[in-house]
Amino acid sequence: MTMIVLDRQHAGKPHRPKDMGATAGDLDGSGSIDLHEMEAYYTAILGLAAELRLRQKYDVIPISHGTYPERHAYVNTRLPEAAVYVALHLNAGAPKKASREYSAVFYDYRSAPDRGLRLAECISARLGGIEQIGGNRRVWATSNKGWKRNAHSTIRGVQHAIGIVFEPFFIDGEKGRELLTAAGLQRVGHALADGIDDYLTSGATS
Ligand SMILES: [Zn+2]
Repeated sequence: MTMIVLDRQHAGKPHRPKDMGATAGDLDGSGSIDLHEMEAYYTAILGLAAELRLRQKYDVIPISHGTYPERHAYVNTRLPEAAVYVALHLNAGAPKKASREYSAVFYDYRSAPDRGLRLAECISARLGGIEQIGGNRRVWATSNKGWKRNAHSTIRGVQHAIGIVFEPFFIDGEKGRELLTAAGLQRVGHALADGIDDYLTSGATS
């Protein structure tokens, strides 16, 4: 059975135990920072939705421990049959205009186009079916320089599996916030699962 690894990042880092990723600030207008409204909290929910969906057809291994290089080494050595590795993220620092909010899926710039790019496009296409995301989608290659280096570091060490960085929406965006519900996060998780399935069932080699 094909194996997929879902890595909830920003959590389980032994050297940075409090790192919960992007924070959303004062979401509910109460005047205080909503500390719990962080990336690592929500990625757990959408990751579980994706996992349950994928489990109907695939082996799914959720991970969330160690430094990123340690996680990548773990996948390479202990899960060498893994076909796909997804670094689960959410964005923060949304553009002021809701119409500018976008959804991003990154693939490893070193990956062959029929692997990384195509898998990222399959996932992005499914995100397009969510009304708050729609056509505002970006598929980007990571890079070893500039701002896309950060994205690259989250998948850099993964060798055989196709590494994807999943940044489906802005948690502090006007539109993104609407997805911070059980139903919204489930839709995002299902889009990820269906995009991976679209790729894996379209005759692609892994
Ligand atoms: Zn992140």
